[in-house]
Order: sequence, then structure tokens, then C-alpha cells
Amino acid sequence: MLTCTKTYFDIPFAHRQYLHDGRCAFVHGHNWDISVTFACDRTDENGFVVDFGKLKFLKNWIDENLDHSCVFSKSDPLMRVLRDAAPEAWKIFVVDQCSCEGIARHLFGVFNDLVLRETSSRVRVVSVSVSEDKKNTARFVSPEAD
Ligand SMILES: [Zn+2]
Repeated sequence: MLTCTKTYFDIPFAHRQYLHDGRCAFVHGHNWDISVTFACDRTDENGFVVDFGKLKFLKNWIDENLDHSCVFSKSDPLMRVLRDAAPEAWKIFVVDQCSCEGIARHLFGVFNDLVLRETSSRVRVVSVSVSEDKKNTARFVSPEAD
């Protein structure tokens, strides 16, 4: 198996950990880095796992869904209240769990589907790492990555 990794740096978005017993319960922002590791058994005609110049679909997805958004856990009881109070103030993205770990898990599923589609299933995603402000990192690794 060959792998390569693409990293998108400094994507600004907010989140809140509504169950947290500290300041993470407040809506707050980070600059996030997202690293996506791709794998294949057979490279393309250039010897690439993926052509980094042909990953605009991933950057576009990040720009459309995460850039300047607020990521909420789907069980957050205030998400609808905040959104409905001022819908023009929010670009909301919902995941099961908006921790670093939960965002990495969610992005793995989204990106793997996109990559499989774009490469006719030649390439798959084996892990996604998500970092908050270059300090804290969580990584979701495909159970099929070994
Ligand atoms: Zn945070």
C-alpha cells in the first residue's frame, strides 16, 4: 500500500462543546488544519497515489461547508435557538460530535466518499487528522487501513 497526505492549513471555524464543564462550552473559534491521507494499491500513470493538483473538490468542500462556519453537535439543545434567533449570523455545520475527534471522524466519511467517487475507487482515504490552532490534534484512522 502506498500513501500520501494533503494538508489544508488555517481554516477558520467555530464550535462549542455544550457538555463541557469549562470554557469549551462557549462558542469559540480556532484555525484548523486538516490532513487527509490517501492510499492505493495501484498508482496513476504518473506514479502518484493522488495528483495533488486535482484535489480541488476537497478544498471546495471545505470552503463551502467549514470555512467561517460554526460546527455544532447534533444533540446541542441551543443550535436551533441560536440559528433561529439570527439566521443571517450563522453558517452552521452539524456533526454527531463536534470535538476534534468527532470532526475527524465525520470528515473521514465525507472525504472517503468523495475520493472514491473522484478516482473510480482506485484511491481511498485511510486517515484524517484535525488540529486546533496547531496545538491539539485528533486523528481518525480507517479500521481497514492496516
Ligand atoms: Zn475548541
